[in-house]
Amino acid sequence: MVEQVVVIGSGPAGWSAAIYAARASLNPLVFEGTPQPDMIPLGQLAFTTEVENYPGFPVGNVRAFIESAVAADRHFNLPPVPKGHVKDGAPHYAVQGVELVELMKQQAINFGTRIVGDDVIDIDVTSRPFKVISRDNPPVETRTVIVATGARANYIGLPSEDRFKNRGVSACAVCDGALPRFRNQPLAVVGGGDSAVEEATYLSKLASKVYLIHRRDQLRASKIMQERALSNPKIEPVWNSVVDECLGDDKQGLTALRLKSTLDGSTRDLPVTGMFVAIGHTPNTAFLNGKLEVNDKGYLRLSRPFRTWTSIEGIFAAGDVADDYYRQAITSAGSGCMAALDAERWLAEHGH
Ligand SMILES: Cc1cc2nc3c(=O)[nH]c(=O)nc-3n(C[C@H](O)[C@H](O)[C@H](O)COP(=O)(O)OP(=O)(O)OC[C@H]3O[C@@H](n4cnc5c(N)ncnc54)[C@H](O)[C@@H]3O)c2cc1C
Repeated sequence: MVEQVVVIGSGPAGWSAAIYAARASLNPLVFEGTPQPDMIPLGQLAFTTEVENYPGFPVGNVRAFIESAVAADRHFNLPPVPKGHVKDGAPHYAVQGVELVELMKQQAINFGTRIVGDDVIDIDVTSRPFKVISRDNPPVETRTVIVATGARANYIGLPSEDRFKNRGVSACAVCDGALPRFRNQPLAVVGGGDSAVEEATYLSKLASKVYLIHRRDQLRASKIMQERALSNPKIEPVWNSVVDECLGDDKQGLTALRLKSTLDGSTRDLPVTGMFVAIGHTPNTAFLNGKLEVNDKGYLRLSRPFRTWTSIEGIFAAGDVADDYYRQAITSAGSGCMAALDAERWLAEHGH
């Protein structure tokens, strides 16, 4: 059997692509894999708690809705209701990352999407139909492919950093900066490139103070961005320093950072309630073995403006794997929709 559309990846981009492809009667097959220990089947959103900026999910009794919408045999996967988030005796909170992606997955299943729980390790693009090769299943032949494998935020790699993820440590200011634990508090951004400066500038509107921690004595960011950040009275650069330890406790989460000087190795503690790591992302493209063109940061290159076409006709890209700029759930979901429509039109144009 030759598939019409194979979707690789199971975050917001992959499920949105599947919903659109399924509703267009293309009977999509989704590969839901976890090729690395720092990936999980529901994508990056599964690493976070409440998602306050995804349209359609204002704070409310989302739990009742989710339990009614998601198949009962997957309820075990739903995280507990966040502590203390109760109003009039009922849960009252913004949808959590896992819940949101479980809803997307359910919506795709409702329209007939089939799912293979396996990692794609290669695509044979030398002949048509393409051959999608996974670790444990037979190769799948398909006329089109939508690559929606996302990206991973790079972290410093300290065990104490891991301990405080979602309790002070984040890799996304736009996602988390407005949460109560960060508002009007001293925060730190780690990094020296454009995204670190961008994160610091964004957070300066919410925080009481933003320390920009950089291992060197000058930033790598573009000149105009540096000037903007360094003239911002709320942003204070902390030069020649790296984070040696994240400090805090189970009750309060992160309370301070132990900084180490890159000049003389001396240490000091900096009180902050949040650390935003901005040292880049790694797009999940290794399995493509260089067969699709990427940009200088390793993200899939789209060959046409406002389209999801990659460098190989019939292979489309959606979500963070092709987006080094917006990296949001809503933009990923939007481009998943675009990729499915592009695949549908491409199939029609080629007589399928
Ligand atoms: C901690 C954190 C908090 C965030 N909070 C927010 C927020 O509040 N609001 C917001 O809009 N955005 C938020 N984001 C960003 C958002 O999660 C991403 O923009 C979005 O998840 C990207 O969706 P995606 O579908 O492109 O990829 P991903 O979510 O990365 O999903 C890709 C999936 O593909 C799978 N995969 C990868 N390679 C393969 C392969 N070879 N074979 C099969 N499967 C594979 C991965 O395991 C993964 O499940 C947050 C991100 C993080 C890390």
